[in-house]
Amino acid sequence: MQDIIIHNMTKTYPGNSEPALKNFNLHIQAGTIVSLLGPSGCGKSTILRLVAGFERADTGTIQLGDTVVSDRHIWTPAEKRGVGMVFQDYALFPHLNVYQNIGFGYKGTDCHSRIQEVIELVNLKGLENRFPNALSGGQQQRVALARALTRRPVVVLMDEPFSSLDEELRMQMRIEIKRIIKESGTTAIFVTHDQKDAITISDQVVVMDHGMIQQVGSPRDIYQSPENLFVANFVGRTNLLRGVVHRERGTVETVIGELPIGHIHHDHGEAKVHVSLRPEGLFLDPNGPIIGCIINYTYMGSSIDAEIQVRGTDQILLTHMHSDQPFQVGDLVHFDIMSGYVSVFT
Ligand code: ADP
Repeated sequence: MQDIIIHNMTKTYPGNSEPALKNFNLHIQAGTIVSLLGPSGCGKSTILRLVAGFERADTGTIQLGDTVVSDRHIWTPAEKRGVGMVFQDYALFPHLNVYQNIGFGYKGTDCHSRIQEVIELVNLKGLENRFPNALSGGQQQRVALARALTRRPVVVLMDEPFSSLDEELRMQMRIEIKRIIKESGTTAIFVTHDQKDAITISDQVVVMDHGMIQQVGSPRDIYQSPENLFVANFVGRTNLLRGVVHRERGTVETVIGELPIGHIHHDHGEAKVHVSLRPEGLFLDPNGPIIGCIINYTYMGSSIDAEIQVRGTDQILLTHMHSDQPFQVGDLVHFDIMSGYVSVFT
């Protein structure tokens, strides 16, 4: 079993009153790509440093595969943990070429064949003799990942790997890095504050705030079924309403009417709840029960962001429309709701 288990980990840096991590628990199944997503300072990099062995936790256990590498009594140094690291700036050796960078420090008997294999995996064949200063940002990132993978690590850790790439390249590299990691079968942990990185690349997203986990789930869970206000607000955009749950009908009563519930968290009967209605959950329907006036209309190219004031209320809802919709500010529109985008929590 090559799972990664972080149990009850707490870390307070010297001189800080607040812990960077509080009783952090996470079980990562072998072969999955996990993103740690959260605002700056929430403790993401601290987890990476603790797993890598660059920092020591105050309490808790870290298990990589069958081996406990850190607990109250055990401390395995970074170089003995079998962890591959891809740094934010890639940290390539400028005086070594692609082949030498990728093979750096690898002493396996299969050295040459392994380096060739990894070069093929990351699509750098033909560039073995190039030096880093003659590589594009995307190519440098491939070298950094290849170097981390050469030793067949238990886990590869990536710290904000896309932050220095422009948007177009970022999109390509998300797909490419995911392919490479999946083909290699390696477990990966990413740190990012960018929700698009997390949603597009991961099997599981860990949303964090103030050193604690707010939610763990697939990208779809995190987006469509947020469990609390923090996740609803931090991941994507949403419409937040107050409501009262009608369990027997599977609905929630709100100022804009009774909505079908897709996901319910911390259900306390008919207690007052928060309702997150993602913009995609509203769709135009001439017979739909919700009628509103368009008060803001932004053409985005691939879609239109429209703000609708629901008739008879002060409630404004954000929605996305297809970009060929011919509406204008002041038009009345009819909507219905898709339950899959309605999440309810206390
Ligand atoms: P993130 O990666 O989510 O931005 P970090 O894990 O880097 O967050 O930091 C978590 C908290 O720990 C922050 O409050 C940060 O200021 C603090 N911190 C991180 N590294 C150190 C350090 N070496 N010394 C003191 N405080 C630190």
